[in-house]
Amino acid sequence: MAILPRFFTAPEDGFFRCDLCPHRCKPDAGSGGACRVRFNRQGSGAIPFYGFVTAMARDPVEKKPLYHYRPGSSILSVGFMGCNLRCPFCQNWHISQTSDARGRLMSPEELIAAAMQQEVPQIAYTYSEPLVHIEFLLDCMKAARKAGAANVLVSNGCVNAEAAGAVLELTDAANIDLKCFSEETYAKVLGGNLEAVLGFMRKAVEKGVHLEATTLVVPGLNDSEAELDNCADFIASLSKPRGSSGGTPEIPWHLSAYHRDWKWNAPPTNPAKLAAAAGRARKKLAYVYTGNIAGEENETPCPACGAVLVRRRGFYVETPGLTLKQEQGRRRYYCAICGADAPLKY
Ligand code: SF4
Ligand code: SF4
Repeated sequence: MAILPRFFTAPEDGFFRCDLCPHRCKPDAGSGGACRVRFNRQGSGAIPFYGFVTAMARDPVEKKPLYHYRPGSSILSVGFMGCNLRCPFCQNWHISQTSDARGRLMSPEELIAAAMQQEVPQIAYTYSEPLVHIEFLLDCMKAARKAGAANVLVSNGCVNAEAAGAVLELTDAANIDLKCFSEETYAKVLGGNLEAVLGFMRKAVEKGVHLEATTLVVPGLNDSEAELDNCADFIASLSKPRGSSGGTPEIPWHLSAYHRDWKWNAPPTNPAKLAAAAGRARKKLAYVYTGNIAGEENETPCPACGAVLVRRRGFYVETPGLTLKQEQGRRRYYCAICGADAPLKY
């Protein structure tokens, strides 16, 4: 199969350009863009790492984190190399900030065949930034759809609208990092673009993708009340309240504790402050979870009767109050106590 690099253009000013993300890199001949994996080879786009897989593991879906999608299921997670951002606290910097990691070449068909061996066929594109490998991603996602496997995207969401539309068309569930609510922090510290991320999240909702959001709470960077309130307000604005009489918007928001990594040496997030931030956010969003803390426990209550639908201790999951029913070719979750629709997607 011919591999066709996409999202490259040779505009009239003579500069070769990659249009995949807001960087719109113009690498010289023989060089790569900021993500380290998309190249200019004699005036043509080149993607030498198509199918280069650096990590593959079976994870609990809760680890992505996805708490309202197929709770308790396993998912095949795959990671690649490179990233268009450079978050100085990146936990995966050894694969995201290099083009020299160890790995092996796999075809979309091989990956999807591995995903199909699980009890619930589903695959997560995760670890570093999958979107900079959009050609391979789209080929995998199409193969997954054909085989009946679900596509889960774990991403920084920082790409231009055309790429976002193409990927989200094939995405079943996504966890997108909303790293802060400051254009300046995105640009100067993270090397990204807030507006592109917000656009990606809006488009995910428009396309009916199951969406959850994650914010790593980094002391001194994004942990002010005003900034976290802005994040919560934006997520709430995407999310329709349950029922005609209103209610609290339902997109789950994961507030994760930061720990020292790569270039960032500030002390870790204070668990009490994280809990306080989550408490404030719960006034705006129905489901706010804290994570990355040892011994963490989280519950999802039924929005109608308050019964515990899902209980999590670390990645150990119980679903005491959930019923899964098959209806008109679709599976849906209900509260086992009162019969209300559960805010979870199969
Ligand atoms: S995807 Fe990579 S090469 Fe393309 S614009 Fe973004 S950082 Fe530059
Ligand atoms: S977007 Fe994710 S993978 Fe990329 S540098 Fe930031 S934390 Fe690392």
